[in-house]
Amino acid sequence: MTRISPRHPRYRSLRTRATLAELARSGLVAPEGLIAHGRGEAFDYFLGERTTPSARRAIRAAARWLVNARTPVISVNGNVAALAAPEVARLQRAVPSLRVEVNLFHRTPTRVRQIAHLLEAAGVRDVLGLVATGRIPGLPSDRAIVDRRGILAADVCLVPLEDGDRTLALRRLGKKVIAIDLNPLSRTAETADLPIIDELTRALTQMAVEVGRPRPRRAGEFPPFDATGALRAARRTMSRRLAAGPRRRAPGRSASPRRVRGTTRRSRRTP
Ligand code: ATP
Ligand code: MG
Repeated sequence: MTRISPRHPRYRSLRTRATLAELARSGLVAPEGLIAHGRGEAFDYFLGERTTPSARRAIRAAARWLVNARTPVISVNGNVAALAAPEVARLQRAVPSLRVEVNLFHRTPTRVRQIAHLLEAAGVRDVLGLVATGRIPGLPSDRAIVDRRGILAADVCLVPLEDGDRTLALRRLGKKVIAIDLNPLSRTAETADLPIIDELTRALTQMAVEVGRPRPRRAGEFPPFDATGALRAARRTMSRRLAAGPRRRAPGRSASPRRVRGTTRRSRRTP
């Protein structure tokens, strides 16, 4: 893997990209998945790369739905496995009834196996979706393939980085759909019962914490969630930040440029 200096201001993002590129070379991440990641990164920039108060409320509501669900399922595609296998395992430990299903837009037996291995290595138990045993009605092609014991049987489906058609098809089946998607304008976010407009690893980590809070379980009860309000809040945050511009000073504007290891930010940025 390319060596990236931890001192780079965007170290985390570059590391993530390098991991995804590596896993794309191995075939686990689809080339289309790299494009989807880039789209997500752009929206995270607009959001300020942090969980907003509105997203935090959505995560809290999602945690309650998961705890109250009879058969909760998380749908895992290549990007989700590549970015967040340990977080999926942690969430499953926190919600032992959570089923984890590999569900791919670009499905091949090899990719399914690779993703299942990655999840198992991270500690996920009983990975579903290895063999096609059911179909979501109304969806063409391989995108309809699901596991009878997983998504087809679920009352609550957690779908990170999902496609809009499938989200709609799941809702038509009467499932409660929780989406994690950085794009508040995507059809997925617009269609889900409970859209979480946040970055995947941040959202899953926080969800595992919320699930662990002591609270009485009320099986089958899903307190209403204001999805329209959540989408509006995310759009507002993004437009506010876009209108305000960057908080940091533009290079060359600083009155006293900070010294960084024998150089200045100005000289580093304007070679
Ligand atoms: P639609 O939902 O409108 O049908 P789509 O699902 O086909 O669109 P894609 O780009 O394929 O569009 O889906 C990927 C979605 O996942 C994008 O909306 C993108 O913003 C989001 N996304 C990508 N990476 C992340 C991430 N790490 N965390 C959260 N969301 C992400
Ligand atoms: Mg989508």
